[in-house]
Amino acid sequence: MYDYIVVGAGSAGCVLASRLAEDPRVTVLLLEAGPSGEPLRSRVPSAYTRLHGSARDWSYRTSPQPGLDGRRVTWSAGRTLGGTGAMNAMIYLRGHPSDYDRWRDAGGTGWGYRDVLPYFLRAQHQERGASLRHAVGGPISVADPRDVHPLSCAFVGAAFEAGLSYTSDFNADAQDGAWFFQVTQRDGVRSNAATAYLRPARRRRNLRVMSGAHVTRVLFDRARATGVQVRIGRTMQDVVARREVIVSAGAIGSPHLLLRSGIGPAEHLREHRIPVVADLPGVGGNLQDHLAVPMAWTTKERSLRANAHSLGNVVRYSGRRQGPLSSNVLEAGAFVRSRAELAAPDLMLLFAPAFALGLSSDEPGGDGFTIAPVLLRPGARGRVTLCSTRAEDPPHIDPHYLITRRDVDTLLAGVAVARQIADAEPLATLRDSGVLLGHDARTREEITDCIRRDARSVGDAVGTCKMGRDSMAVVDPSLRVYGVKALRVIDASVFPSAMGGTAEAPTIMLAERAIDILRADTTFDAVPLPQDDRNSPSVLPMNKGWATAHYLDKGA
Ligand SMILES: Cc1cc2nc3c(=O)[nH]c(=O)nc-3n(C[C@H](O)[C@H](O)[C@H](O)COP(=O)(O)OP(=O)(O)OC[C@H]3O[C@@H](n4cnc5c(N)ncnc54)[C@H](O)[C@@H]3O)c2cc1C
Repeated sequence: MYDYIVVGAGSAGCVLASRLAEDPRVTVLLLEAGPSGEPLRSRVPSAYTRLHGSARDWSYRTSPQPGLDGRRVTWSAGRTLGGTGAMNAMIYLRGHPSDYDRWRDAGGTGWGYRDVLPYFLRAQHQERGASLRHAVGGPISVADPRDVHPLSCAFVGAAFEAGLSYTSDFNADAQDGAWFFQVTQRDGVRSNAATAYLRPARRRRNLRVMSGAHVTRVLFDRARATGVQVRIGRTMQDVVARREVIVSAGAIGSPHLLLRSGIGPAEHLREHRIPVVADLPGVGGNLQDHLAVPMAWTTKERSLRANAHSLGNVVRYSGRRQGPLSSNVLEAGAFVRSRAELAAPDLMLLFAPAFALGLSSDEPGGDGFTIAPVLLRPGARGRVTLCSTRAEDPPHIDPHYLITRRDVDTLLAGVAVARQIADAEPLATLRDSGVLLGHDARTREEITDCIRRDARSVGDAVGTCKMGRDSMAVVDPSLRVYGVKALRVIDASVFPSAMGGTAEAPTIMLAERAIDILRADTTFDAVPLPQDDRNSPSVLPMNKGWATAHYLDKGA
């Protein structure tokens, strides 16, 4: 029996378990489905792409996407200590301040930018030093890249030449402009929630961490969460939580677990003969992800991956933590607005001094570079639903990519900016010919066809257990699940809307802020179901077809 059970040792779960265990009076159990240990491919920055598709990746796939020519898109998600933070690209971005004000205005009271900034600071050790927007002394180390590839410098120069502005800090109030990304690394090694929070906390006797522990459902006594059922190897066990169960299984894992446990749209649960504990239509809904269009050019310059693993480069990395092995691959970037009247950038450009057509997976050889415009705030909302009641079966994931005209138009604007940068000096003289996104595509229709053919996920799924006060909300602003007692969801799934940036730093911030909420909250009353508020901008109409859609897809 433990006071708190945290499900999932990812970016949020590691922070939560470690911080909770700072109080010696409470006992904490952290359960992680993935294997134990920290693989070298996670620690060495450039090697993370080799974890994708491995046993430490859930390797989800979406349903066929009508907006992407019926393609299924691969979604990586970490299945290891550190979760997706153990295999991501280490880019440190908080998003735009207005993202949090939008959360607050959509029912996330207490989650506006002014409220959350102190928690970004608490989590951070900024190697540039302390300033108005940055702090030193926190667990997660944020650093400038140790070695920048000449092609990345050329990208930044070309972006200025193409008219983009200069910014040395994408985490300041205005994001617009181009520069090199800061990365979550300490001394050239990945810094994430597992290494920065969990590793030092593991000596605490009140914290137990179990790997290879797949939570199959949350257990209830009437509407109170009393513990979890967990599969370890071939055995099933029930573990009791005295105070609370905290679900931090990620944007896919968390709604998947809630649905299996009887929390979700009643109609869908009954379809699978799951007893309804709380009828919450929003569980699995509101799914948002960042879609990118990787555009690549061959180049006369040797790219990042050429000789990256040569003896000389291995020695360089082992000795001084420098050279291509210290690179996060997506070294530089830019934020731009597709329309001048927008209040914040709606496009991010990622730059890799190598072929990164899959963005995350290993690429074919040859010298090249990639510019990938990313749609930051998709208009469409998708859904995660059950395919079966077995915990081992992946859920049905339908992000509804590019079903709105506006999303396509935004990416068309992104493609145009990327081409302008590739045509500007000094990149223009270094590049050869485009190899992806048909460089002969010229008309709007031709480029749209290329986008639908080539776009892929950058792995920032959020929103499937959203925080708010409307009828689609799953948790209240204290992250308590509506309609039940002693159960919270704390991870990227509670974001009401996608960020103008990547999602790891906001998830760690969320967990830091949740700790203060947990420490202050000693009442375990059931949270009344949210009122149906159809005037709320975040209420989304239920698509009556979703519950049966996966049957139609089955043979696809
Ligand atoms: C390829 C890729 C690159 C990315 N690059 C960046 C980047 O450069 N910068 C950035 O800020 N963000 C990046 N992200 C996004 C970021 O890493 C995630 O948004 C963030 O880590 C999510 O944190 P989380 O705690 O919500 O979930 P996760 O970190 O995914 O943690 C969930 C954990 O729960 C475990 N789990 C799931 N189900 C169960 C169960 N039933 N029982 C037990 N355990 C379970 C999982 O194994 C996992 O360890 C990237 C994502 C991907 C996929």
